[in-house]
Amino acid sequence: MNCTKCKTKAVIGLPRHNAAFCKGCFNGFVHDQVARAIKSEKMFGKEDRILVAVSGGKDSLALWDILLKLGYRTDGLYVDLGIGSYSEQSHAKVTKFAEAVAASHGAALHLHTVEQEAGAGIKELAQLIHRPTCSTCGTIKRYQFNRVAIEQHYDVMATGHNLDDEAARLLGNVLHWQEEYLDKQGPSLPASVAGFAKKVKPLYRLSERELAAYAVLNRIDYIVEECPMAKGSKMLQYKEVLNRLETESPGTKQTFYWGFLEKQSKKQPTETTMTEKDRAVLHPCTSCSQPTTAGVCSYCKMMARAKTVVPR
Ligand code: SF4
Ligand SMILES: [Zn+2]
Ligand SMILES: [Zn+2]
Repeated sequence: MNCTKCKTKAVIGLPRHNAAFCKGCFNGFVHDQVARAIKSEKMFGKEDRILVAVSGGKDSLALWDILLKLGYRTDGLYVDLGIGSYSEQSHAKVTKFAEAVAASHGAALHLHTVEQEAGAGIKELAQLIHRPTCSTCGTIKRYQFNRVAIEQHYDVMATGHNLDDEAARLLGNVLHWQEEYLDKQGPSLPASVAGFAKKVKPLYRLSERELAAYAVLNRIDYIVEECPMAKGSKMLQYKEVLNRLETESPGTKQTFYWGFLEKQSKKQPTETTMTEKDRAVLHPCTSCSQPTTAGVCSYCKMMARAKTVVPR
């Protein structure tokens, strides 16, 4: 198999593009897909400061790597969830990567440790406050990501969600006709009100497999295991179904998600995805000032509850 572009020996075949690439041309393809995503969705410019949420997995570390190589000013944020050896390993991978990009690009890493603030790791905390682990985790990660972005004056927050993630999420939203979520499933969500940072997903044009190949080819040392809490999740089930369809008909995920984005863009411009209704009901949290629909935000409520139930 030879590279479609330069005809030397290819290292990866991409059935959905009916192409194969050598390492150099594949890196060019990946960078080009991210550059196209940034431009077409008006995500950010060269002057902006970008905060990437890094988990130690292939997608987020590859995103940090790609954005720096494309010349964007990008720092990282890692939230240590305190999930035993999974968190220890992922923390170590992030630290190692962050040290390398600090030396090569002057990039910085911000760190938030759940155990330090809540008194317990995410699993124990969720049990003690009687909430599902992943929803507890989601509240904490969203809150900390936004807090660091606003406090440290970043222009935009970027996550490593890829085409597989977004297609699986779309499938879930369609199966349950979650119309409100569908309206907000674009790869670029504007800063709707003061106190909420803009959120973008620059990897939405690249598949999980392509990002794994990018990480391996560029010697990015990432944690291969998924978070143990993800086991048996609906998202993994949707991904499995889509993978089966993709094997039979390459390009299915792309057609599904990109087709959805095209329809959405005709329906309403991306910059107005946050509805007027949302703007009207958001107020600063009386405890921490982050925007919330209630008097006290769900994060502050959770931390207040943790103080009463977590043994210190
Ligand atoms: S799977 Fe792990 S990282 Fe993902 S939301 Fe659940 S606890 Fe958090
Ligand atoms: Zn080539
Ligand atoms: Zn609050």
